[in-house]
Amino acid sequence: VADLVALAAARGPDQPAIVDVSTAGPERTLSWARFDAAVTAEAVRLRAAGVGRGDRVVIRLGNGAAFCVAVLGALRAGAVAVPYGPIAVVRELEIVFADAEPSAVIATDDDAAARTCAGPVGARLLPPPDLDPAPVDPAEVPDQGPGGEELALLVYTSGTTGRPRGVQLSHRAVLANREQTAAVRPAPVTPVDRVLLSLPLFHIFGLAAGLLQACWAGATVVVTDRFEPEHVVEVLTRQRVSAVAAVPSMFRSLLDVPPARLRAATSGVRLCTSGGAPLPPEWLVSFKEATGLPIFEGYGLTEGGPVITTNAIGGVAKPGSVGRPLPGIELRLVDSAGRPLDEAAEPDPDADDDGFDPTEDTGLVALRGPNLFSGYWPDGAGGPDEDGWFRTADVGFLDADGDLHLVDRSSDVVIVNGFNVYPREVEQVLLELDGVAEAAVVGVPDERRGERVLAVLVRAAGAELTDERVREHCVERLARFKVPAVIEFVDELPRTPTGKVARRTLAAQRR
Ligand code: ATP
Repeated sequence: VADLVALAAARGPDQPAIVDVSTAGPERTLSWARFDAAVTAEAVRLRAAGVGRGDRVVIRLGNGAAFCVAVLGALRAGAVAVPYGPIAVVRELEIVFADAEPSAVIATDDDAAARTCAGPVGARLLPPPDLDPAPVDPAEVPDQGPGGEELALLVYTSGTTGRPRGVQLSHRAVLANREQTAAVRPAPVTPVDRVLLSLPLFHIFGLAAGLLQACWAGATVVVTDRFEPEHVVEVLTRQRVSAVAAVPSMFRSLLDVPPARLRAATSGVRLCTSGGAPLPPEWLVSFKEATGLPIFEGYGLTEGGPVITTNAIGGVAKPGSVGRPLPGIELRLVDSAGRPLDEAAEPDPDADDDGFDPTEDTGLVALRGPNLFSGYWPDGAGGPDEDGWFRTADVGFLDADGDLHLVDRSSDVVIVNGFNVYPREVEQVLLELDGVAEAAVVGVPDERRGERVLAVLVRAAGAELTDERVREHCVERLARFKVPAVIEFVDELPRTPTGKVARRTLAAQRR
């Protein structure tokens, strides 16, 4: 994977690779040649610190050029990069360090939590890499680079269980997913693009689909660690950004910017891509009205390296659908025993074949392809089965065109009196109501019914919305058991660093 940097440097040594506009320091630009030199020097530094091939290196830095150099330096040294968020607290770090047993941790000097947790597991604590290193002695540069089935990244996800689990991504998987993504049209990243990266780099979306995809193409990454719409608008304008990859909540927050400013700021943007969480069609429509730009939507997950589908295939975004798998990825729906839906279904000879019924034809999304992970750390458990299929926790259906629609995660289903309620369906109905800016639905325990539906809403600016109005709207559009039993208004929804509504937190706060 680190060879991507060397290749881009050979093609365009003086082209800008990274423009760092993060709060960590003054703005700076690294050309591909300088980025490549810094990556090599970082590999040499790690080797000198005792990091060997296959050793884990935790990178606990905020978004910025130093993060990029550290990850690619670890890879060039033959080590496994373990990106981990700077916002994680001691308890989370302890769990991850005990699990990954890193031999080195790269953190800033003032990172007391990293210092506390590195010692007990015997990890060397190293400061961020030098972005202007002195030339290194070629003899010190690790020769044969790692590849194939050797691990490149160990990415911790909270998954469906809430317990951090290390997803093992080999060099083969990471590179396969870059090649698959590059084959999509319109091309997500081209050599002339300037890609805005405000997604957290410790998450696979920002790291692989953002940074590594730009390395694959030799494009420029404009990296920032701030998500405020005003800052983003300023960066879009000043840095002449041409491609934006973000999570839905970021596109939503840009809508708070006055339309004329937003339109001017996005005038040089050719492509917007959303992923990581559902993009409500209302947001897509409002964004198109404000900027003239469609937002293409993709579906991905850490275990997939991450990009699985895109609705950009064919160049038209289909609202509500995440589209089709990338070339080289197979996707099918299976039941909870893993049987493909079309094989599991018992045909009823007397029934009229009414064809497709999304409420019945939902299944778990299963995947096969060279981009898939090799199981969870440390022993590879839970990976693809012997035929190469991996069953996700995502419930979806395929429409008549064969495009995938995600219903929800199986683990988030609320069970009311034995009936399944998919929170996303209720959230979608809530978002259709004027005055609702954001909506989250979770299940809370109920003595009689097992669980009941709780809706937590953020009112649009100036909206006067009452629970009666919300209930009335839902009763007209949803089966009785799906109508929220409790409605709450808040100023802000809790979100994960990647912009997903933290449903688990919401539910736990109300237990
Ligand atoms: P974490 O909390 O660490 O992000 P996670 O389990 O959410 O953990 P990820 O790999 O980041 O792990 O997220 C993948 C999941 O995000 C998918 O399984 C799916 O549920 C959801 N997801 C991704 N893209 C979309 C999308 N376009 N629409 C709906 N859901 C999506």
